[in-house]
Amino acid sequence: MKFISTRQKNPIDGKTVSFLEAVKQGLAPDGGLYMPVQIPKPDPSFWTDIARLPFTEMATRVLSLYLKDELSEESIHEISQDAFSFPVTIQPIDASTRLLELFHGPTLAFKDFGARFMARVYAHMVKKSDRELTILAATSGDTGSAVAHGFYRVPGVNVILLYPSGGVSPLQEKQMTTLGENITALEIDGVFDDCQRLVKWALTNQTVQTHLQLSSANSINIARLLPQSLYYIHARSNGVEEDSRQQDVTFCVPSGNFGNLTAGLLAQAMGLPGVSFIAATNSNHTVPDYLSGAVFQPRKTISTISNAMDVGNPSNFERMMHLFGHSDQQIRNELKGGWATDEETLQTMEKVYRENNEHICPHTAVGVHVADQHRRSGALREDQMVIVPATAHPVKFTDVVQKATGATIPIPTRVQDCMNKKKSSINMSTREHDLQDFLLSGRA
Ligand SMILES: *Cc1c(COP(=O)(O)O)cnc(C)c1O
Repeated sequence: MKFISTRQKNPIDGKTVSFLEAVKQGLAPDGGLYMPVQIPKPDPSFWTDIARLPFTEMATRVLSLYLKDELSEESIHEISQDAFSFPVTIQPIDASTRLLELFHGPTLAFKDFGARFMARVYAHMVKKSDRELTILAATSGDTGSAVAHGFYRVPGVNVILLYPSGGVSPLQEKQMTTLGENITALEIDGVFDDCQRLVKWALTNQTVQTHLQLSSANSINIARLLPQSLYYIHARSNGVEEDSRQQDVTFCVPSGNFGNLTAGLLAQAMGLPGVSFIAATNSNHTVPDYLSGAVFQPRKTISTISNAMDVGNPSNFERMMHLFGHSDQQIRNELKGGWATDEETLQTMEKVYRENNEHICPHTAVGVHVADQHRRSGALREDQMVIVPATAHPVKFTDVVQKATGATIPIPTRVQDCMNKKKSSINMSTREHDLQDFLLSGRA
C-alpha cells in the first residue's frame, strides 16, 4: 500500500511513498498530510470474521491490509501486542449511550494508541539501520506524555521533548520528566509556539542534521492515525448486545485536531458496516459551523475547560475532505456536527456523576452533551445507540471535574506514584543557538 499527500489529487507515480517513508517524513513535502492511495475495502465477511477476535488479533488483521508490503504479519502482530497492551472497555451511562474508555494506557488518554504504535514502527526501522534516531517533539501536554511513554526504553531511539515552562498541568509535567533513560525533557522559558518553532528549526537545520538523525513525532503522522481506527472497529462489534449486532451505532467524537474522528471515518470508508459519526467540539466550532453550511474559516483559538480540544484551525480537516472526495455536499450529507459551551460541559459532568456515580473528563462531556443535543432536536432517534469515545481519564483534569461534580476523584495508585517521583528537566531559553549547542553536545 502506497501513501499520498492530501494535496495531490491524482496518484501519479513517483508522488506516492511507502508507509515507512510517510512515517519518516511526517508532513508531505507539499505541506499536505499522508493518506493511503486507495482505501482497502475487504469483503463483508472480513468484518464478521474479525468481530470476535481479541483486540490485538483484530488489530493485526486490519493493519495488515495497509502494511503487508512492508512489514511481515509476524512483525505487525508483535508491534500490536506490545503497543495495545491495555484494556479497551465500554460502559453504559444510560439506556442508549455508552462510553468507549480509551484511557487505560500509561498516560491515561487515547493518544497512547497512536504514540505507542508509532514508537514501535520507529523501533522496527532503527533495527534495520545502524544509526540511532532522535525524535524531537514540541508539546502542550498530552502529546508529550504519550510520546515519552510510547518511546520509553525503545532501543536505538532517543526522545527530546520541548514543553513550555509553567504551561502544562502538574501531572502532565511529571509524566514527561520522571522517566529518564532515553527520554529528555527540555523546559523552555516561553510558550508552546516557541517550542514548536524550535523543533521546526532543528528539523531543517543542516548542522544539526549532519550530527543527528532527527525525526518528529507530531500528531499528523500517519502512524498515529491508522491505529486509531481500531477501537471503532472493536466498539462496533463489542459495544452492542448480541441480539442487536445489526443495530447501527453512532459515534459522537470529542474533537480538536480531528485525528480521532478522521480515524473513525477511515474505518467507515473501509466498509465497516452500520456506523455513522457526529463531530463534537467545544467553543472552537469551526468544523460544526462548516457542516451546517458556513464557509470553512479557521479562527483564533478560544481557551476552554476542554483544553486538549482548543484548536481553531484543525489540521486533519484536510484528511476529512480527502475522504469525502473534496465535496462539501458529500461530507455535509454524511457527517453531523455540534458543540458545547463550558457551562454545558460542566453541567454534563455533573449530570453523569449524579446519575452514574462516575466522573468523566471535560472532553468526554462535550461528546455526551452533543449526543443529547442531537436526541433532543430529533436529529437522532431517542433509542439510537450512541458511543462516545472517552478520551481521557478524569484524574488528568481533577480541578475542573471536581468543580463540576463537587466530589473527590479517587486517585489511581499509578498516578500517585508518578506524582511522587522527582522531576528532572533541563531549562532552556527560546534561542535556536542554545538548542543547537545542546543537540551537538551529545548530552541527550
Ligand atoms: C487530543 C485530545 C482530544 C482531541 O483529539 P483530536 O484527535 O485532536 O481531535 C480530545 N480529548 C483529549 C483528552 C485529548 O488529549
